[in-house]
Amino acid sequence: MSKKPKGLAVLQGKCPQCHQGDLFTHGAYNLRNFTKVNEHCSHCGVRFEREPRFFDGAMYISYALSVGLFLVSAFIIYMLFHPVSENVYLIAIISEVFLLYPLMFRYSRIFYLYIFGGLKFQPELEEKENN
Ligand SMILES: [Zn+2]
Repeated sequence: MSKKPKGLAVLQGKCPQCHQGDLFTHGAYNLRNFTKVNEHCSHCGVRFEREPRFFDGAMYISYALSVGLFLVSAFIIYMLFHPVSENVYLIAIISEVFLLYPLMFRYSRIFYLYIFGGLKFQPELEEKENN
């Protein structure tokens, strides 16, 4: 089995410990279920919610991502279209937040788990086959 780079595991929302099991139960644009996190990793069995209400802290990451998105968008609009009315900024940013919300929600949880979850990648778990 090939070794998956950490960046790819983060991008795909995989378990920090084995880079195989999925953190989320459904796809990002399954609007009913995109927030649902698996209780345990299906591959190595580690518990994703490290302690009760663990993922509440992901709010801070979500906030940082939103501010980053806001700044980058405003900069791009300014560089490409200046001068435009404030409404253009407003509409662009509101639509981005709306469209990207599922991704922002999920990546804030993924980043939070990778940074504060206290889970170290264990390559021997990655190679273990499910059978
Ligand atoms: Zn795992």
